[in-house]
Amino acid sequence: MNSVTFSVFFIGFLLMTLIVQFWLGSRQIRHILQHRAAVPPEFASKIPLEAHQKAADYSIAKTKFGLVSLLFNAVVLMGFTLFGGLQLLSVLVLNLTGPGMLYQIGLLAAFAVVSGLLDLPFSYYSQFVLEQKFGFNKMTPALFFGDMLKSTALGAVIGLPLIWVVLTLMDKSGALWWLYAWVVWSGFQLLMMLIYPSVIAPIFNKFTPLEDDSLRSRIEGLMQRVGFASKGLFVMDGSKRSAHGNAYFSGFGAAKRIVFFDTLIARLAPEEIEAVLAHELGHFKLKHIVKRMVVIFGVSLAFLALLGYLKQQVWFYTGLGVDPMLLAKNDAMALILFMLSLPVFTFLFSPLTSISSRKHEFEADAFAAHHTNANDLVAALVKLYEDNASTLTPDPLHSAFYDSHPPASVRISKLLTA
Ligand SMILES: [Zn+2]
Repeated sequence: MNSVTFSVFFIGFLLMTLIVQFWLGSRQIRHILQHRAAVPPEFASKIPLEAHQKAADYSIAKTKFGLVSLLFNAVVLMGFTLFGGLQLLSVLVLNLTGPGMLYQIGLLAAFAVVSGLLDLPFSYYSQFVLEQKFGFNKMTPALFFGDMLKSTALGAVIGLPLIWVVLTLMDKSGALWWLYAWVVWSGFQLLMMLIYPSVIAPIFNKFTPLEDDSLRSRIEGLMQRVGFASKGLFVMDGSKRSAHGNAYFSGFGAAKRIVFFDTLIARLAPEEIEAVLAHELGHFKLKHIVKRMVVIFGVSLAFLALLGYLKQQVWFYTGLGVDPMLLAKNDAMALILFMLSLPVFTFLFSPLTSISSRKHEFEADAFAAHHTNANDLVAALVKLYEDNASTLTPDPLHSAFYDSHPPASVRISKLLTA
């Protein structure tokens, strides 16, 4: 491989990815418009036409916005790489810090700040124009920027030491650095899962123990039936940011917690909440979470090994518009180039992850139908789809690429016929 060949590959994959993404987006918009006039027959008795059309308009607006951001991100990607943005950033940082660890960490930090600033108008628009227009936004600008400051500070406190460890391994631990880095990375992921519920999530949200006694005993009964032990049931003030509802459980081992968004509790009947939770517990009992973690760890090992190879290749840098330096370390630059270019080469494989995730969703639905009442889960799904304004008529191909969950109509008909 030489650098021109690699540039050609990179641009080719980027164009191909963009073409596929725009094609999928336009299919999605067309498909939703075609079905906008009437609620699909299987939902006709459950969802009013007005809600169906709101979901259609919301999904189309989101898809269009997604296409604009894709185009912008592609321009930014080209700007960073072949148009010399990273090269320039690297020279600027090097002039400030001189070669060494400070340069490497400075480069990563500068890159994070520049990308964050470029992304800011998009996340602001998404929250305060798009979500606002459809009545989902509950955030104030103060909360929005407060969150941003908090996550930046958190990213610095957690990310900088981690980056320092990884860069040190890349520099000092020889040809197998990627293996050691993988061990550190995997350990870090597990640690995060362990401390997320009790340390990190409370920085952003308030968690209160579930107080509704009858709901609590209903849920405890379910947990006993399926054999699930948990540290506690909590309600999270999700309504302070968004009207969308959700439930999840987080942590593992003894630290497991079940968390309900207050929006979900307010909207669903107790038996529907029980059914939604049974679905989530299904993911746990059927070992979906462990399987997913094993896959993630395996894939990250393969990617790190690939990075171990690429970091040694001059064409990897020059092909992406950067001159590797002789007097300073190129490790931080290799990390950035890898993060930027990887999605360009992997997007076309994304249906593979959707396939296994959908299989898990069906299995968790079947689990919930077995341990609670399938009709309650159907009722809950209908309400959630309505409240989240998810379209009931997505384009199947678009859905195969992007949706981790099968379309509502498919899930519901499966639940009703099982
Ligand atoms: Zn699920």
